[in-house]
Amino acid sequence: MSNNCSNIPNMSQTFGHEEFFSRQCIWTNGPVIVGAGPSGLAVAAGLKRQGVPFIILERANCIASLWQNRTYDRLKLHLPRQFCQLPDFPFPVDFPEYLTKYQFISYLESYAKHFDITPHFNETVQFAKYDETFHLWRVKTVSTSGSLPVEVEYICRWLVVATGENAEKVVPEFEGLEEFGGHVSHACDYKSGQIYSGKRVLVVGCGNSGMELSLDLCNHNACPSMVVRSSVHVLPREVLGKSTFELVMLMMKWLPLWLVDKILLILVRLILGNIEEYGLKRPSTGPLELKYTAGKTPVLDIGALDKIRSGQIKIVPGIKRFSRGRVELVNGEILDIDTVILATGYRSNVPSWLRENDFFSKDGIPKNPFPNGWKGNAGLYAVGFTRRGLSGASVDAISVAHDIAKGWKEETKQKRKSVAARHRRCISLF
Ligand SMILES: Cc1cc2nc3c(=O)[nH]c(=O)nc-3n(C[C@H](O)[C@H](O)[C@H](O)COP(=O)(O)OP(=O)(O)OC[C@H]3O[C@@H](n4cnc5c(N)ncnc54)[C@H](O)[C@@H]3O)c2cc1C
Repeated sequence: MSNNCSNIPNMSQTFGHEEFFSRQCIWTNGPVIVGAGPSGLAVAAGLKRQGVPFIILERANCIASLWQNRTYDRLKLHLPRQFCQLPDFPFPVDFPEYLTKYQFISYLESYAKHFDITPHFNETVQFAKYDETFHLWRVKTVSTSGSLPVEVEYICRWLVVATGENAEKVVPEFEGLEEFGGHVSHACDYKSGQIYSGKRVLVVGCGNSGMELSLDLCNHNACPSMVVRSSVHVLPREVLGKSTFELVMLMMKWLPLWLVDKILLILVRLILGNIEEYGLKRPSTGPLELKYTAGKTPVLDIGALDKIRSGQIKIVPGIKRFSRGRVELVNGEILDIDTVILATGYRSNVPSWLRENDFFSKDGIPKNPFPNGWKGNAGLYAVGFTRRGLSGASVDAISVAHDIAKGWKEETKQKRKSVAARHRRCISLF
């Protein structure tokens, strides 16, 4: 699958990057995939099926680390099972319509086992750049599997970015937060409301995480106040017994987006009533338009709205500043609070390690929207940045695996005789 070619000299001359020094260099006969979440696994499975060798690098010590390490216990998939399955491997028939996170993780473990995917764990990609001279990608990692960190450089023809839209937590700055004195954490570290029983908790953010955490806090006898700074679309998870997402997908086949948004908002009003009276102001842009233009996912309600109506979840406006044991809100109200949970979202980390300006925007998302955001130049690919969750990732993964397999087969057919020579060239170039 790969050839080890050590004794490669300092790369800093090639990249003009002082710290770029490689102790070990690995030539990869096939693509390097960065990230062993659902997207990376789906590409790997597609390549395996087509006989293409690859290396998959993962910074965590397990597959699907977002799901295993950074989600709360009660999390269920937001979308029905039919939209979450990865290619070529169905969910077990006895799985429910909405999988628990544990069911989803066990499915992904089986997926990796079925396709014999063995990622390099504890290996973080820190730097990747296309070498124009040699027409190859150079991917620098730090591996922490052993007792000492080891720098490794992979050289490959194709690079697949599958590090996810949610790679890093977003932690905004707030005036006075250092004076607050209580416990402050991010939603990615939240497991259960049990430890918050009887506590006054400020949940900052009203997306799916903020809503579900607030609901979980209520169920564990905590007193959450949820900050809604601007506006939010809340949709019922189901309309007339059918999943809202499925209904939207169906309508989108026949109707323009603006009309689907309009129909959706009428249905939502009929089912949920006027939620603005509880402090949940609706954005002026429709839910789908907002999702696709700004990446703002509408909240699918699984019970938080009832708790808001009954006053168990208090809705409060934006934060002005924190002080010892307190928060002052933009409307002048002051709340005594014990703890703060920041449900303030996540972001891509691609700009921090990929030296490339054409394909990815400065936010680390491909510039071309779905379905045209999976293929860049010079063997660069992206999977899982569609703002369409797991269903979008699967669509991309199939295209990427197919495209790379095509290129790999052409290259290996044409250059079969010169493969050995090319490996030598890799060694002698540096
Ligand atoms: C709380 C929560 C709930 C969600 N619920 C749903 C849902 O119900 N349905 C749905 O469709 N989507 C849901 N999503 C969105 C979810 O992120 C995606 O559906 C799915 O996890 C995307 O898979 P991915 O492989 O693209 O990204 P990820 O699952 O984020 O996997 C990316 C992997 O890349 C690794 N990585 C990152 N940077 C590096 C690096 N530099 N070097 C090496 N490895 C790296 C990460 O450790 C990670 O394992 C949810 C997201 C969150 C945060």
